[in-house]
Amino acid sequence: MGYVIAPPPQAAIAVLGTADRFPVRRIYCVGRNYAEHAREMGGDGREAPFFFAKPADAAWNPEAGHPVLPFPVATSDLHHEVELVVAVGARGARLDPRRAAALAWGCAVGVDLTRRDLQQVAKEKSRPWETAKGFDRSAPVGALRPLAGSPAPAAGRIALSVNGALRQEGDLSQMIWGVGEILSHLSGLFELMPGDLVFTGTPAGVGPIGRGDEVSCSVEGVGELRFSLSRD
Ligand code: MN
Repeated sequence: MGYVIAPPPQAAIAVLGTADRFPVRRIYCVGRNYAEHAREMGGDGREAPFFFAKPADAAWNPEAGHPVLPFPVATSDLHHEVELVVAVGARGARLDPRRAAALAWGCAVGVDLTRRDLQQVAKEKSRPWETAKGFDRSAPVGALRPLAGSPAPAAGRIALSVNGALRQEGDLSQMIWGVGEILSHLSGLFELMPGDLVFTGTPAGVGPIGRGDEVSCSVEGVGELRFSLSRD
């Protein structure tokens, strides 16, 4: 038996300090997980976590040097959302938060790129968010830092700058739902599997980025991610 077309390459992200890569299976994202951001998006900050997904190959892992992300098509309002990303290293379904937290294999800094103009239309018409959230290269992710059995960080500065100007700043301790709770909720909806990535939500200060802009972000104790957007 063979494949009738060439199978797609395995989406993968770098692992800090090694030549190894982490294969990406699925990408889940949490909406509105910091109270201040929930308010800036029109919520009251008290709702249960909700999720959306991006395709595995939306993960864009910039190599060393000065990586340039091709500016996404079909938007005139591209937004940045810096997030702690958790990489799942084991299988699990319907887990309590403590057991779910143990699925975390590593953490990274990611940006949940959003075509806010398309998302606005989707919200107004109660349509799905795929075109706003799940487009090509919509999930830039830095190198994964292995947790080696330690829990994912529950506190630490998370920040994003554009062209050197601070745009987003918060602390992981401000997350409405912590990593264990997020993975627990998710594991009640899907069987989590090794290779799944989870974007855990963004602090306040989301906003537009344009052609040629340089984006730089960090999560304390986890790592950094830098890239610029193409000029055309
Ligand atoms: Mn987000």
